[in-house]
Amino acid sequence: MKHSILVIEDEIKIARVLQLELEHEGYSVHCAKNGRDGLDAALEQNWDLILLDIMLPKLNGLEVLRRIRQQGIQIPIILLTARDTVPDRVSGLDQGANDYMTKPFAIEELLARVRNLLRMSAISLQTQPTGSEGAHGDEIHIDGLSMNIRTRQVKRESQAIELTTKEFDLLYYLASRPGEVMSREQILSQVWGYEFIGDTNVVDVYIRYLRQKIDQGFPNKLIHTLRGVGYLVKDGETP
Ligand code: CA
Repeated sequence: MKHSILVIEDEIKIARVLQLELEHEGYSVHCAKNGRDGLDAALEQNWDLILLDIMLPKLNGLEVLRRIRQQGIQIPIILLTARDTVPDRVSGLDQGANDYMTKPFAIEELLARVRNLLRMSAISLQTQPTGSEGAHGDEIHIDGLSMNIRTRQVKRESQAIELTTKEFDLLYYLASRPGEVMSREQILSQVWGYEFIGDTNVVDVYIRYLRQKIDQGFPNKLIHTLRGVGYLVKDGETP
């Protein structure tokens, strides 16, 4: 089945190149030329991925992003930024963008990130039977923690927990392999994609965020560190 990609980009030349290259890779592509048309298209149809320019007429890209996520739509979104403006990038990632590319970018790199994100979202939709614990259909249950893969809702002892996109992906990656220790490098390449390889500190930072949200206040810790090796999620004992 062809993956469908929505390109929201007002620069005709860039939009055309993106469309040709993506179609060449076998994706079906639709282009929207301003923020408002882009948002309409994003909400009307189920896309597998969106490429979203930030500087757009009528409605800027960050606003488009915000409104898409506000509707609970979790599909992967890559932001395209004119220059490497840190505030835009940070607020874009805060608002749930999965990745960003700074213009001018190498098309091969963009295609690699598109493949990577489509692969990641395929992983998080898969159900992986792992015995008595782990995934059951759309949900993962571990010792009072439940994660719904489709709605991306997370609860611990029936208390709802808000996670960012990355926090969810990280927890999902570990929780779908209960008891298995994953190295920082494995976590980076699977959850963040290749572009972050080498900077494993980001894993420690996100593990800390997750511990605050998932484990703080509970006697049983689910997120464990195996010193010098990596991290794992498992139920039960106090560390
Ligand atoms: Ca633009």
